[in-house]
Amino acid sequence: MSESKRLFFALELPGEIQQQIVRWRAAHFPDDAGRPVAAANLHLTLAFLGEISAEKQRALIAMAGCIRQPGFTLHLDDAGQWLRSRVVWLGSRQTPRGLLQLANMLRAQAARSGCYQSPQPFHPHITLLRDTRHAVPIPSPGFRWTIPVETFALYESQFIRGRTRYTALSRWTLTDDKEQG
Ligand code: ATP
Ligand code: MG
Repeated sequence: MSESKRLFFALELPGEIQQQIVRWRAAHFPDDAGRPVAAANLHLTLAFLGEISAEKQRALIAMAGCIRQPGFTLHLDDAGQWLRSRVVWLGSRQTPRGLLQLANMLRAQAARSGCYQSPQPFHPHITLLRDTRHAVPIPSPGFRWTIPVETFALYESQFIRGRTRYTALSRWTLTDDKEQG
């Protein structure tokens, strides 16, 4: 890790759920509704960090490795559009307590190491479409996808040849077992 990188902590989604989401999106939104996020890129951001130096990356990785909390279950059963940020999203009507606890911990740790700069409130969501130019009808989600969340990861975001790519740099298991993690 010699150079600075654009980083964020996130939950990755099982491949099967990514495919179900993409099928639901294709069935309910016209092609010109916005820029679809690629299936493999569908994720839930816990803390966006921005450009981080190699030294701070090491501090973040060490701190994230000390997190001890059990996994939790995420139900995807809500969808909406934020006109200002021009995204269509999927989320949960009831955010699991474990998700808030994890995001709060990561944000507090990042702030402590001088990384985290985003003062906005946390609205957990999975972005489906970006750059939506106008309001699109949001179908009521006829699903309740259940995701057992057992890990979280630190991702690098790169924009290469016109595409956004995320690479998991480190991944941790959620457990309250003091011996693991
Ligand atoms: P692109 O910007 O290339 O279309 P992207 O937004 O997914 O794709 P990044 O901008 O690197 O790529 O963002 C990575 C993750 O962090 C995404 O989930 C994005 O929504 C979130 N994110 C980006 N900027 C911020 C920010 N300022 N505050 C909170 N979250 C952010
Ligand atoms: Mg972006």
